[in-house]
Amino acid sequence: MSESLAAEGFRDLSEGEVDPLGEAAEARMVDPAKVDCAKLDRSSPIFKTISTTDPVGVLDTVCRRAVAMLGNTIAELTRIRARVRAGAPPAFPLIGDLLGWSLQTRMLMRASDPKAWTGSGPRTAEQILRWLTNIRKLIASRDLWYTCLSSGCTPTQRAFITPGHFRIHLCRRFWRPRPGIDAATHLEFQAQTIIHEVSHIYYDTEDVGRGPGSAHCIAQLIADANGSPIRREIIGRCGPAAPARPPSREADMTAESGDVVRSRRCSDFVSPCPTQSVLFVGAERPDEFADAMRLAREGHDVIAVNPRETAAARAFRRAGGTFLQARVEQLPRACCRFDTICENYPYPSGRHYVPPRDFALARLALLAPGGRWVLFTESARYASLLKAVADYDESVQVKFRASLSSLPPSAAPPSSYPYSDTRFRVLFKRRR
Ligand SMILES: [Zn+2]
Repeated sequence: MSESLAAEGFRDLSEGEVDPLGEAAEARMVDPAKVDCAKLDRSSPIFKTISTTDPVGVLDTVCRRAVAMLGNTIAELTRIRARVRAGAPPAFPLIGDLLGWSLQTRMLMRASDPKAWTGSGPRTAEQILRWLTNIRKLIASRDLWYTCLSSGCTPTQRAFITPGHFRIHLCRRFWRPRPGIDAATHLEFQAQTIIHEVSHIYYDTEDVGRGPGSAHCIAQLIADANGSPIRREIIGRCGPAAPARPPSREADMTAESGDVVRSRRCSDFVSPCPTQSVLFVGAERPDEFADAMRLAREGHDVIAVNPRETAAARAFRRAGGTFLQARVEQLPRACCRFDTICENYPYPSGRHYVPPRDFALARLALLAPGGRWVLFTESARYASLLKAVADYDESVQVKFRASLSSLPPSAAPPSSYPYSDTRFRVLFKRRR
């Protein structure tokens, strides 16, 4: 593929080169002569099926959006790379939480490792930038051919390509938004589809696996970097669902109203000013460690414990975080007192079943006066049982008070069970 592209005047951009796309940014990105239905009489039933009589105009809008999304991502990665080269640590706030997660999960790039930003080749920013730049260039090039309504579509398909051809076969699903999807959202999906298909054309990407070799991963990285929604049907086709969008810090500072649900994760309960000591119990996911690392960088004393050490835990440790491979019950009670204990979606069931009272006491014993233990769970039953420990056990009641809230998933940390539509938050506070 790359040889034929080179023959047609394509080339990889060398590092640091500015790529203004020149006149392509002004002119149409779609050549009407390469859109097969553009020459048909407008009374043809195909226009009813694709719900537009201006397929070239629609495709041009979609390609512009795709090019803009790629451009935003390229600009952001380039900015981060320049700062890391200048010695800045590759971490929040230089790298947004969601982008960091996405690079790590979808591109398999170690976003917290400076070498991944300064080096070149597989799993580096250099490779991702090169690929995105070339995909963007091809979309804007007017060199792509479009079949408006391919006869080879399955009912659920939006588009497909055949290897070795610069032609995108479009399907009915590409053109028509599904019920409940507004026009703006549909445009985002269409742009992602074009990016997905062009990655197949240029880089022979596949529809499985992870990393830049997956068309889903490339399109979903671009979606993450642009705050663009991802279609429900393809969530999980490139790693797990993305964490909830991090709340804007500015919004956090200005929103005072108590009825606004804005605490999405435990770290939102950590007071920003004096140094707090924070314990993450059972941390295993990249988003949890990203949260822990963010607090550590803000100057808090942060410890994560889990008897199981995941890859995310190792990355956290390598980045300077404190991770103990242990159960929280194994921490000596005299060792420490925490201002905040964070715990997301514990699994105290089956072999690991711990009665709610013992479970609660192991955590509560580690709380400093005024300290809080914030637990998120999908289990209404376990949440109620935990709250009951504080409500009905007198020895607990005198020292702690508990509250229980139910939340929409968007107001809770990401979970491995995205399909249940309620989360519960139990908050224990140690009386002073
Ligand atoms: Zn595909």
